[in-house]
Amino acid sequence: MPEAVRFHPARAEVIGNEFALVWSDGVESYYPLEKLRRACPCAACGGEPDVMGHIQRPHVNYGPQSFELRSFRFVGGYALQPTWNDGHDSGLYAFRYLRALDEHASA
Ligand SMILES: [Zn+2]
Repeated sequence: MPEAVRFHPARAEVIGNEFALVWSDGVESYYPLEKLRRACPCAACGGEPDVMGHIQRPHVNYGPQSFELRSFRFVGGYALQPTWNDGHDSGLYAFRYLRALDEHASA
């Protein structure tokens, strides 16, 4: 069931150890970098949250650099692609997924 993307990031920057994102509808989301990395939706890190928003994922080995954001870009008009300092960059965080990760923002 395709759904239209109703919001997109208007601004994004790293502030300290958080990824700060301002959405096109004015909502501001702050993601601790560690939380953002642990929520990586790529196949290796595993999956997406279930309907309750819980994330079940396989065991992944993280190092200190895993939670340092080297850079990020937006791809395809629908997703955020972070590059982490341990070289991991295969996670595409769809905007809807990012929005769901922020429990303070309503989707
Ligand atoms: Zn990943």
